[in-house]
This record gives sequence, C-alpha cells and structure tokens, in this order.
Amino acid sequence: ASTQLKGEARTVLEIGGRRIGGDHFALIAGPCTVETRDQTLDTADAMLAAGATMFRGGAYKPRTSPYAFQGLGQEGLRLLAEAKERTGLPIVTELMDARDIEAVAEVADVIQIGARNMQNYPLLSEIGRSGIPVLIKRGLSSTLEELIMAAEYVLKEGNEAVMLCERGIRTFETAYRFTLDLTAIPVLKEMTHLPVVVDPSHAAGRRALVEPLSLAAAAAGADGIIVECHPEPDEAICDGPQQLRVDGFAEYAAKVEQAAILG
Ligand code: PEP
Ligand code: MN
Repeated sequence: ASTQLKGEARTVLEIGGRRIGGDHFALIAGPCTVETRDQTLDTADAMLAAGATMFRGGAYKPRTSPYAFQGLGQEGLRLLAEAKERTGLPIVTELMDARDIEAVAEVADVIQIGARNMQNYPLLSEIGRSGIPVLIKRGLSSTLEELIMAAEYVLKEGNEAVMLCERGIRTFETAYRFTLDLTAIPVLKEMTHLPVVVDPSHAAGRRALVEPLSLAAAAAGADGIIVECHPEPDEAICDGPQQLRVDGFAEYAAKVEQAAILG
C-alpha cells in the first residue's frame, strides 16, 4: 500500500465503468440496509438521478445486538441485483462471512468490509484471493497503521483493488456517535497510494451533521464519500436518524461535487 512503491502515482480503480482515485471523485450512496423492493429501487433511481457514482446497501448487517434486524440476506442480494440491472449503478455491499462470498460476489462490484470485521484476517485473505474490489472500513478503535495492515492482507493475495474508508472512531466525546478523523485523509494519502473514502453517516449518527462532514471530507481530499440515504428515514429499520432524505439529495450531491473540486 505504501506510496514508496509508486512515487507520486495514485491508484485509480475502475469499477463498472466508474473511476475512483487520483483525479476521480466518487459519491457512493444508498440506504443502510435493503428493506423492501420499493425502498431499494426508489432510492437507487434517486441516487442515479442525483449523479451518484455507485449504489450502497446492506443485505448482511453487522448489528451490535444479535436481537436486532440482521439484514435480508439472499433476498437483499436479489433486490440489489435488480437495482443494478435497472440503474446501471455499481453495487457496494457488505460481506460478513466468507461462506457467503460467492453469493455476494454475484451482485457486488465492491465488497465492503465493515468496521467490526476490519481485523478478520481470514475474511480479508479470502477477498484478496477473490480479486473483487474491496472497501475496508476503519475499525472503531483502530490506528491508521492497523487499517493499512488490513489492506495488506488483501494486497498480499494479489488483489490491488483496495479502498480505505474512514468512518469515525471512538473518542471520549459523546455529543455525537463517533469522531470523524479528518486528519486521516491527508495522512492516509501520505502513507498509501490507495483511494481514501469517507463515511460521514456512521461517524455523525444524525442527519444534520452529515452534510458539513461530507463537505469537509471532500475539501480535505477524500477520493469518495459513502453516505446513507432513505426515502423515509423515520421509518427506516436501521440508522434512521443519520440517513439523508431522498428529497433534497440532489442538492447535497451538487454541493459535495463542488467541495471535491477544492480537494
Ligand atoms: C454500514 O456501512 O452500514 C456499517 C454498518 O458501517 P460500519 O461498519 O462502519 O459501522
Ligand atoms: Mn448504517
């Protein structure tokens, strides 16, 4: 992952005809989790219309409580496939268990490794062998060095399509969900040649903070933003308070594009 290998050159990934890294900024947007056909397809249509680059949505959800909704699983993957077929947007979705890799790989253009699985080394090695592009989220209490070492598990197997994602870390602050580490953006770009993506949604935990954090991240040089959006966040099964409304998303996307020009 080290910049020493490439000098000034940055890794640019091409995913379903979209590019991320170098001069290419990507807006990855969609619901926290796939819930219903209408919710999935309505959101995907709106993300496409707003100019999003890729569509996100979970079918396998890493929930803190084992009693909380765990995702639609196979049925969720089927709905993501339908969204992709309809909009042409590449799909970003989480893989939690290596036993599901074949099913997830059928629809995923990018596999997401969640913060809680960042140090699941057998899972990382398996994705490395699969060659599927991967977005690795920084663990809740992981250092940047640890995040980069997680990326190395994938790279070591010959898979160079790796993106790093800052999604907020645990600090002493309790006024919001996690502390978005903006400094991680330039520092990860100093340390590695990999695209750096920022998730303002899980850091913020509430909607009002998502836009300012997105603009700051884009202006600070993030190569992409991965953000949650839902047609009716108040009815969402998970992460409702932080999901942006589909209504107004196009305005948000336009501002983020502007900020990305600064970065
Ligand atoms: C998510 O992206 O839906 C998610 C659960 O994120 P994280 O792993 O960063 O908590
Ligand atoms: Mn979520």
